[in-house]
Amino acid sequence: MGMKIVLASNNKHKLEEYKKILSPLGFEVISQSEAGVDIEVEETGTTFEENALLKAMAVHEACALPVFADDSGLEVDFLGGRPGIYSARYAGKDATDKERCEKILEELKGVEPSRRTARFVCVIQYIDKNGNAKTARGECEGIIGETMSGKGGFGYDPIFIFDGKSFAEMGVEEKNRVSHRARAVQKFLEILKEGK
Ligand code: IMP
Repeated sequence: MGMKIVLASNNKHKLEEYKKILSPLGFEVISQSEAGVDIEVEETGTTFEENALLKAMAVHEACALPVFADDSGLEVDFLGGRPGIYSARYAGKDATDKERCEKILEELKGVEPSRRTARFVCVIQYIDKNGNAKTARGECEGIIGETMSGKGGFGYDPIFIFDGKSFAEMGVEEKNRVSHRARAVQKFLEILKEGK
């Protein structure tokens, strides 16, 4: 059995994704509830880095194991970087992914393609067993489409165009070759290997 690391989240989707990537490399990923930590950390930071660190630190303090947390979102340049850290809550707490996409399309109505630039950002904060924090950031640049397209993915995928098609029109493997999350994970792996 490899080194145990705790994901500071109880999101099943995230847990499975990280297990798949990290277990072949000799890391045993467990969720915070499996580590006996029952807390909901408030994301009060002003950056992805701060919010991921808040989550990772709180869980590390509660279990004293190596911990990592991620925080991600979409930055639209025409909207001054919104929704950014508010991506999950944009258009109201109870809104659907579709309503969030529609809100952005509405806000960008009539805006020409050259001013529709955007990027997905993913930041992973890792805290090793000694309490030292290391950061891995991944970004993916694209543009916001004129309409929603594609049926795959989640969140803002249907309106995010990369290399001529939306993230929702890509298969999982194709998205994972270029996505912000994949790029952050790549750097995170290097950090883990250094400390092994
Ligand atoms: P959190 O990192 O779990 O707080 O949520 C980030 C939010 O950003 C998600 O709920 C999505 O709305 C959005 N987001 C992050 N990554 C992606 C992605 O790969 N595709 C589409 N939307 C994303």
